[in-house]
Amino acid sequence: MLDVTGIPVDFEGDVAAGAIDNAKADVPEIANAKTVIYDRKLTGDYARTARDGTVYVGPNAFRSTEWLDSTLLHESIHVSQIPTRWYANDPLGSSINDVEAYRAEQQNFVRFGLSPADQAEVNQSLLSDMFVIRRLGGPAAVQQVYSGNYTMP
Ligand SMILES: [Zn+2]
Repeated sequence: MLDVTGIPVDFEGDVAAGAIDNAKADVPEIANAKTVIYDRKLTGDYARTARDGTVYVGPNAFRSTEWLDSTLLHESIHVSQIPTRWYANDPLGSSINDVEAYRAEQQNFVRFGLSPADQAEVNQSLLSDMFVIRRLGGPAAVQQVYSGNYTMP
């Protein structure tokens, strides 16, 4: 287990960078990112992808190596969305973006060995986004996303 939040600030960045390097080896998909860097101030989310393809990883993503791997896979999906289906400023669209990323995490639960609690969190996050899609886009949007079409309805 790895938890950078308990590491003295002087060493935190180096430890995080080392953990990110290990995770990048586990998750070759993240090679599509421009770069993957640690951001100790990013605490509202586990990680964030910027429009230029930079992936920022916050302290909470480091609660386990498995969670960090799954988080990098999630962000690699966001990087892949940038050219054709990146809806960061739209509530419906950003939920669609996240459903695609959470589904990729679900498909890799066994690969990364995610704990039942971590799996439950991913499932709950996906469900929350599906309810946003239901509220903002109606049943047709839900059906579209369930069918695997992650573009704006
Ligand atoms: Zn996301």
